[in-house]
Amino acid sequence: MTDTKKGHKATDECVELLKSGKLPPWRVEDELVSTYQLLPPDNFMLAARCRRKFIEETTGEKFSWIRISEKPYKNRYFCRKDDLTFELDARDRYVRCPLCHGKMMDLGEFAPLVASYVGGCESYYSYAGRIQVKGDLEKEFTNLLVYGTGLGPIGVTRGCYYINRFGGADVKVDKFARAVRCHGLIFESDRTRKKAKDVIEGQLDEFKKKMDDQMKEFKGGVSSVDFDLVDAQEDYILYVDFVASFTNFRGHGDISRAVGFVKKEVEDLLDTSGIDYKLSVIAQGHDGDLKPSPRNKRGRYASAELRIPIHEFETFFKIDLQKFLSFVKVDALGAEKLGCPFYSGMGGEILPAVYKATQVNPQSPLVSSFQNIYAGVENGDVVYRVELPNVEVGVFSTREGIISPSAREALRIMGIQTAREFAASLVAQVLAGEFNLALEISREKLYSS
Ligand SMILES: [Zn+2]
Repeated sequence: MTDTKKGHKATDECVELLKSGKLPPWRVEDELVSTYQLLPPDNFMLAARCRRKFIEETTGEKFSWIRISEKPYKNRYFCRKDDLTFELDARDRYVRCPLCHGKMMDLGEFAPLVASYVGGCESYYSYAGRIQVKGDLEKEFTNLLVYGTGLGPIGVTRGCYYINRFGGADVKVDKFARAVRCHGLIFESDRTRKKAKDVIEGQLDEFKKKMDDQMKEFKGGVSSVDFDLVDAQEDYILYVDFVASFTNFRGHGDISRAVGFVKKEVEDLLDTSGIDYKLSVIAQGHDGDLKPSPRNKRGRYASAELRIPIHEFETFFKIDLQKFLSFVKVDALGAEKLGCPFYSGMGGEILPAVYKATQVNPQSPLVSSFQNIYAGVENGDVVYRVELPNVEVGVFSTREGIISPSAREALRIMGIQTAREFAASLVAQVLAGEFNLALEISREKLYSS
């Protein structure tokens, strides 16, 4: 049989194995070697094609912008002088040592670019399984992650398998996301500050209407205005948080513009009311802009939960429940001991990987990376839950942020059309990754040599 014929036969058979669930997606490279003698580096291209074909057949969407690299693997080089092995993308032509710039020895050893590689020439996309969600949304999402090195995509895939096996992730996702900007004012005395607060409150309905007008494009609306009073030496500070809600957009730019507008209106109002202020500024420090505070008002709440009857949990996973629960407790308390208001474990890696794959706005996912985790027993069930209190996302390519054709393709393949679906898919993937990690660690399968 010619190699091309052999390749076609192997691809068809591997796609069928992937569909039946008998072949884990990250094992396709090995399967091509062991069953078809398709050796490295030839197996890498074929494995990527198998996974893509499988994804196309299960989602009905096509890969086009997310291309497979012409050499989808890495190559190992060794520098004698530095006694170090380096791994370079096989296309890379600058093969001198990154440290001493000397010549390196080509070891002729190949490895996958990332686990379950499916495409991407600059960012490497991994396939990380499919996950069913129920509750606020009923849907099955396909997971594509730009995760980089490591076993993360495999962990998410395994977690998805377990969650689907036990009926899917039960998700709760807010209908609206919040965006906030703060107007800060300083007064000479508590009395003037009180007067100012009263006149501002008296005009709030008027202000809100004008602000809504400023936020029409992305259909934003002021949802609340919160006052906070802080005294510092001779300064009497008044923080006015203008909070707006958005359905499908991030809204950060719009609320900023609207507050910039209303700040001028507030100043005019104070002037005509004869109320002196020492300073009037946009107070970014108080609006939860990228701050890990439990009072952070940005983004949208999303949670995902898995419930498994205790007996099934113990027999299926062959695990001591108490040990599992204690591990989660040790982990969460560890974060608390460090003074973190949130726990952030695998989520700290999965969230950026989803943001990188989809290039949604904001492209820096820091504010959305806060995460709470819970494990316990309720009514005879083991309950495992993660919460993302501040998922910030705009899924459309607009003035708010451009999304490249390849990232838009990723969104289509993943099955994400709305910001709410993005949040649901995100929290379900974090649940999968965290749950799998908790199992692996409490079964002492991880971090053991
Ligand atoms: Zn060197």
